[in-house]
Amino acid sequence: MNRNILQRLAWYPVCLGLTVALFTGCGDSSRLPPTLILISLDGFRWDYFEKAETPNLDRLADTGVKARGLIPAFPSKTFPNHYSIITGLYPENHGIVSNTMFDPVTNDTFLIHDQSAVSNGRWYGGEPLWATAEKQGQVSATLFWVGSEAEISGTRPTYWHEYDHDMPHAERVNQVLTWLDLPPDRRPTLICMYLPDIDDGGHQGTSSPALITALQKVDSTLGMLFDGLIQRGIMEEINIIVLSDHGMVDTDSTRVIILDEYVDLDQAGVIDWTPVLGLWPPNELRDQIYRALKNAHPQLQIYLREEIPDRFHYSTHHRIPPIVGIADEGWSIASKAYFERNPSYFNAGSHGYDNRLSSMRGIFIARGPAFRDGLEIAPFQNIHLYALVSKVLNLEPATSDGQLDSLKRILR
Ligand SMILES: [Zn+2]
Repeated sequence: MNRNILQRLAWYPVCLGLTVALFTGCGDSSRLPPTLILISLDGFRWDYFEKAETPNLDRLADTGVKARGLIPAFPSKTFPNHYSIITGLYPENHGIVSNTMFDPVTNDTFLIHDQSAVSNGRWYGGEPLWATAEKQGQVSATLFWVGSEAEISGTRPTYWHEYDHDMPHAERVNQVLTWLDLPPDRRPTLICMYLPDIDDGGHQGTSSPALITALQKVDSTLGMLFDGLIQRGIMEEINIIVLSDHGMVDTDSTRVIILDEYVDLDQAGVIDWTPVLGLWPPNELRDQIYRALKNAHPQLQIYLREEIPDRFHYSTHHRIPPIVGIADEGWSIASKAYFERNPSYFNAGSHGYDNRLSSMRGIFIARGPAFRDGLEIAPFQNIHLYALVSKVLNLEPATSDGQLDSLKRILR
């Protein structure tokens, strides 16, 4: 009798603990959503499927949802868009307004290869998906994503890596599978994975052998990942989103705007070159530089920050340069000296242009228990993905510029 009571009492703290966990959403793995793997294939233009055999991506799309393009935020560059995808915010609202930035408040410059800058949370506004997940008791993991090396919104992914461009693909796949092998209470519900190869290939031209090789390599990497999921018997349980940040367009050395034909480079304060020009001249020279460039070249659209058309959502943030130039599709901007030293550099591929151009569109494929089967949809803007993934992961989303409404129909 006494032993019975003792046994019952011994259960009390356990039950109490479990009840608290159920209400807070912490620690009770049975209530966690299935893992979602978010995979970015940098620079995969929406129509690259015609350029190489991609059997693994095709199979994913055939049994899931495929958009005929993913519309990037402006500028259609890597850092602004990865961070828009993960926060649901336009660059003017999250602060990663380009790959290269100047902050007039802190007097700091952001360069994507500067480890101290990319890991400094001060640059990153908004709330990334992993922070939303962690704050609500879920576990997240990132194998490279813009912002994942910094503490943002007071938190970090549970598991993350310092960026290593050259990490072999097999190692990346193994890391993701290792996370999935963890016991339920430590297993991530959100895994972000990133592969840079297709962007690297596309920058050599959208018909280059390097691009074809990269497409094939990345597709077989995905095959490796899917095989790992199948071997574990979890392929049908996992939600997978494969997307890209932007597209690519060919450039050539006959379409280069030489900036110093119009302004003195020592005065113009060039922070960002091509295809989106960012100028931070001294205040007293702003209007003079602007007038010298406005209508100077028919393929270069020049704006003061405050007159950038609304559709770009690119004017409110203090890191947006006072003068912004946008080259027309396929055009480049350079100094005379740089162009003469590296003319072949301009026979290549580039992105960053007007996000309304179809060449700047990326891809979106989603498959798994949360998504409908065999559905093709029209292109949509990547700022809606934060709300979509929040819904799939059963998370209360932070404020964002996107909405779930337009994407509800892709969910089961
Ligand atoms: Zn990119």
